[in-house]
Amino acid sequence: MQVLVVGAGLSGAVIARELAEAGHMVTVVESRDHLAGNCHTERDPETGVMVHRYGPHIFHTDDVEVWNWVNRFARFRHYVHRVKVTARGRIYSLPVNLHTINQFFGKTMRPDEAAQFMARQGKDGAASRLRSFEDQALCSVGRDIYETFFQGYTCKQWGRHPSRLPASVFRRLPLRFSYDDNYFNHRFQGIPEEGYTEMVARILDHPHVTVILRARFSKKHAGGYDHVFYSGPLDGYFSCRLGPLAYRTLNFEVSIHKGDYQGCAVMNFADGDVAWTRVTEHKHLAPWESHESTICYREFSREAGPDDIPFYPIRLVREKALLKKYQTLAAREGHVTFIGRLGTYRYLDMDVAIREAIDAARRFIRRHERVRPLWNLPETGLSGRDNRGGPVREEEVVS
Ligand code: UDP
Repeated sequence: MQVLVVGAGLSGAVIARELAEAGHMVTVVESRDHLAGNCHTERDPETGVMVHRYGPHIFHTDDVEVWNWVNRFARFRHYVHRVKVTARGRIYSLPVNLHTINQFFGKTMRPDEAAQFMARQGKDGAASRLRSFEDQALCSVGRDIYETFFQGYTCKQWGRHPSRLPASVFRRLPLRFSYDDNYFNHRFQGIPEEGYTEMVARILDHPHVTVILRARFSKKHAGGYDHVFYSGPLDGYFSCRLGPLAYRTLNFEVSIHKGDYQGCAVMNFADGDVAWTRVTEHKHLAPWESHESTICYREFSREAGPDDIPFYPIRLVREKALLKKYQTLAAREGHVTFIGRLGTYRYLDMDVAIREAIDAARRFIRRHERVRPLWNLPETGLSGRDNRGGPVREEEVVS
């Protein structure tokens, strides 16, 4: 079949590859001038440092199949993400761990003591329903830590008070009663040695895949294809006709220095009166390289306007109505599958985006594969069933 994939980010690239390997012909259109969407990386010409142009992307997953899948296309270097935070004139370690707790409260507690101490700090969560970020944070870490590390940062990052954001955003971060300061809990963690853009280029490097950059999708392009996988903004597909969905976008202030600027890849700034959320020093994202100079991105978050690159879909606790309406419209587009962070309007990590893309592609492939004639089936004794063990369904038979 002829398939159009809109967007050459991770979701689009993975779908394109899976479909191409199954024999479909795929065209990928991308509005920007580069591959890899927001995980795009490029070498800074002045310092030679590999820069994560849209902010730091660390690959982490517990999904063995996804890990093996990406490792087909890139050599991943072991990398453990360790984040520091500047708050009220001091530096702490994130995610909140035994070091953070002891340092913050001026104590020398062991793990079980800290766990009991934090349980007393936390508000009784059973009474509230823990629907909001704030409820969840107060219950888990108590008011002092919440107000120092989370409240100001979250207001800056999301432009909304944490009482309006869902608890799931807070739950992205672990709370640990050990000195483990790895930002992520997942079993596999790394960064592609040659960057994400090179990895996506290899994913798309298949004779059945044609990639067109700087090509803005419009619905009239879909006509020539049997199916479309769309990874652009969900509201944008419908020309925002029900009103725009809200996204946050980021601005980066770039600076170049000699040597080492901050000693770590990411320094968060938790205080509400500091305008930026964090500083990324990109060379620390590739500790296997060495560079004399260093390039830093100071990150500012703001509401996305119609011409901005959307970064984060803003899902609020109480405002789901507009999204539901768009989802209803999307469900009626029979020949279009909406995928990825923007296409499904969700805050997705890279591994989840890839898992969902693999699954979506395989569902499509199963629906459209030729069912082998019965006389070619292996001797299973299950006559009338296909080679996956399920009943042969009408829609699977392509004449
Ligand atoms: N967060 C915070 N202070 C921090 C780091 C994170 O308040 O120093 C909050 C913030 O609301 C953020 C959420 O925790 O959106 C999840 O953090 P994560 O690092 O997963 O956010 P990401 O940068 O991946 O979007």
